[in-house]
Amino acid sequence: MLLVDHDEDFRQKLAATLKQSGFTVYIASRGLDGIDQARRYAPDLIVTRLELSDLSGRELTLTLRVDREFAAIPVVAIADEDDEEQRALAYAAGINGYITPPYTLDALVLHVEFFISGGSDIIEENETMDVARERFLQEVVKRLEGRIRELEAKNASLEKLDKMKDTFIQLTAHELRTPLTLIAGYSRLLEDHPPLQKMMADDENVGVLISGLAEGIGRMQGIIEEILTMSRIMTRQMELNIGPTNLGNVVKRALQGYHEAIKERQLRIRFDPAEWPVSMRADADLLRLVIANLLSNAIKYTPDQGEIFLTAQTSGQAVHFSVRDTGIGIDHEHQQYIFDRLHIAHDVEVHSTSKTAFLGGGLGLGLSICKGIVEAHKGQIWVESPGRDPETLPGSEFFVMLPLTTGSTQKPRSRLKRLTRT
Ligand code: ADP
Repeated sequence: MLLVDHDEDFRQKLAATLKQSGFTVYIASRGLDGIDQARRYAPDLIVTRLELSDLSGRELTLTLRVDREFAAIPVVAIADEDDEEQRALAYAAGINGYITPPYTLDALVLHVEFFISGGSDIIEENETMDVARERFLQEVVKRLEGRIRELEAKNASLEKLDKMKDTFIQLTAHELRTPLTLIAGYSRLLEDHPPLQKMMADDENVGVLISGLAEGIGRMQGIIEEILTMSRIMTRQMELNIGPTNLGNVVKRALQGYHEAIKERQLRIRFDPAEWPVSMRADADLLRLVIANLLSNAIKYTPDQGEIFLTAQTSGQAVHFSVRDTGIGIDHEHQQYIFDRLHIAHDVEVHSTSKTAFLGGGLGLGLSICKGIVEAHKGQIWVESPGRDPETLPGSEFFVMLPLTTGSTQKPRSRLKRLTRT
C-alpha cells in the first residue's frame, strides 16, 4: 500500500505498524510524489492525508481516477476532523473511505485491512453529494486557473532574469576584453623591447616567463571570445557574413591553429582536401570556428599518438562532413546534452584549463557554439559514439550537414544582427 502524508513522525509510526502487520508500505510526503509512486508501484490501497503541501488528497485521487490504468485503486483519506461537507467533497473526488480521529494506530490497521479487502464507505446519493460534486469541480477549476496564472508570472520573471544574465555575461566579457587587449599589446611591446631581448638572450628563464605570459593572455582572450560568440548566438545578435567559401581551406586554417599541439601530442591527422567542397556559400570565419572547436575536442579527448579523421562528402545540395577521433568516447546519456550551453560530461573536479592537453577542460560552450553556427546556416550537427571508456577508447564522431548555398546572394538577410564591437 501507499501512504501519503506530510507529517513525518505520524508517517513513520503508521508505516512501522502496518509493516508489522505484514503490509509492504511505500511512503510519499507530497501529493505529486504520491501520484508518481502510485503509477510506479500500482499499490492495492492508497491512504492519503487530505491536506498536503502541493496537491490535496482529493486532487491526488481525481488524477488517478481519470487514468484508466490506476482508476480502480481504492483511496482512503485520513481527515483531521469529521466534517460532513469535507466528507462529501472527498467522496465527490472519488475517495472510497474517510477515516477521522480519534484513531489509534491499531484502529488504522483494522481500517486498512477493511478497505484493502474491498470494503468501502456507504455513500448516500442525496442533495449534499450533488452540491459537493459541483463545489469540488469549481474548486479544481479555480485552483487550475490560479496555478496557470502563477506559473505564467513566474515564467515571465525567469525569462527576465535569463535575459539579465545574458546581458550581464555579454557586458562583463566586453569589459574584460578591452583591458585584456591593452595587456596583450603591452606584452608584445615588452617582447620587442631591446633591453628585454638582451635579457632574454642572457638568461633563458626570462624568455620562458615572457612566453608564459603571452600564452596565458592568449588563452584568456580565447575564453572571452568564446563567451562573446556564445552570447551573440544566444541573444540572436550575430549576423552571418555569407560569401564564397572553400571548405577545404577553412579546415586547413583550423588545423594550422593546432599545429603545435598535434606535433607535441604525436597525433596523426587524416585529412584529404580533395574530398572537401571548394565553392560553397557560407560564413567562412564561423565555419572555421565550428571545425576548430570539433578539432580541439578531438585533440583533448584522444590520448597521445591517437588518430583524428576529417572527412567530407558532397551529395546533392549539401555537404556532410565529420570529425572522428580515437579517444575516450561519450556516454549515451550525455550525448543529447553536450550541445547544450555549459554542459560538461566529465567530472568538473578534474577540469584543467588547457585547450589541447589530454582531458584538458573548457567552459562547455564549444559544442553549443558549433550548434548555433551550424543551425544559423540551416544545417544540422550530431554525435555518434559507442560510449565512454578511457581504457578501450571507442572514439566519437561528430557529423555536420550543411547546405551548399546558405542564405541569399546579396548582403545577409539573416534575422541575426551583428553586435557592435567596442
Ligand atoms: P568544452 O568547451 O568544455 O570542451 P564542449 O561544448 O566542446 O565543451 O563539449 C562539451 C562536453 O562534451 C565536454 O565537456 C566533453 O565531456 C564532451 N565531449 C565533446 N567532444 C568530445 C569528444 N570528441 N570526445 C569525448 N567527449 C567529448
